[in-house]
Amino acid sequence: MISPTDRFKNKECIFCKMIAGTLPSEKVYENEHVFAFRDINAQSPVHVLIIPKKHIVDILDVSGEDSEIFQHIFRAAQLIAGQLGIAGSGFRTVFNSGDNACQTMYHLHLHLLGGTQLGGSLVG
Ligand code: 5GP
Ligand code: ZN
Repeated sequence: MISPTDRFKNKECIFCKMIAGTLPSEKVYENEHVFAFRDINAQSPVHVLIIPKKHIVDILDVSGEDSEIFQHIFRAAQLIAGQLGIAGSGFRTVFNSGDNACQTMYHLHLHLLGGTQLGGSLVG
């Protein structure tokens, strides 16, 4: 069986192209380590994807040397929540990994969802 890592590491990655600016995106935040943009199929009034600039496939692909990247991802979530006015009202953050979680984009991304009352169920 081909692992998700092997399946995608040699293919063209849409999110890497957005980071590089060769594909358009609605950017909301960027620093040296992370990039964040509006989800094309927003599931709530605010739906942002925060991604590392390093091509990491999913949580299983994270290594010890990536810890600083996560500090930047979570700091970006704080800043974007403030910038987009949802820090006070609350928001949800989600990493999907693999088939049962319905992961469709194999470049690690943190979903940041808010701007309305979200459902109480985490599993849809
Ligand atoms: P996943 O299901 O892998 O956790 O989430 C992938 C997300 O990427 C989905 O919410 C989907 O709408 C979003 N997405 C897929 N392709 C594009 C794209 O080309 N542009 C943007 N902005 N979002 C995308
Ligand atoms: Zn990528």
